[in-house]
Amino acid sequence: MANLPNSEVAKASGLGGILHQLCPRCGQGKIFCTSIFRLFPRLNERCPVCGLKFEREQGYFLGAMVVSYILAIMIIPLLAAIIWVITRWDLNWVVIASVLLFIPVAPALSSFSRVLYIYFDQAIDPDES
Ligand SMILES: [Zn+2]
Repeated sequence: MANLPNSEVAKASGLGGILHQLCPRCGQGKIFCTSIFRLFPRLNERCPVCGLKFEREQGYFLGAMVVSYILAIMIIPLLAAIIWVITRWDLNWVVIASVLLFIPVAPALSSFSRVLYIYFDQAIDPDES
């Protein structure tokens, strides 16, 4: 964490940093080169500002898959509830519709899960290099 003032470190831990996909250490460098809403967003290997390595080791983002799964099992029932309240369809159709509505969001959610996982990992095991 060399050469970073304390205010920048504090800024990096904020919700804004997660939502804008900024580096958890400096709060300025972008984690992704492109928008997560593109089909295949590119992850920066390192933070362009402070040099934090985002993918710390091979297979690092397996933990992000768990985060993605947890988000999915929270979002799909929420979508189903909204659809059911609006349409009062049969449960089978509600489930099918909620999964179909979720599919276009899944790639962006997967990328966002990586951001959440990087923040989680940096919170419990900060990279000091
Ligand atoms: Zn950084």
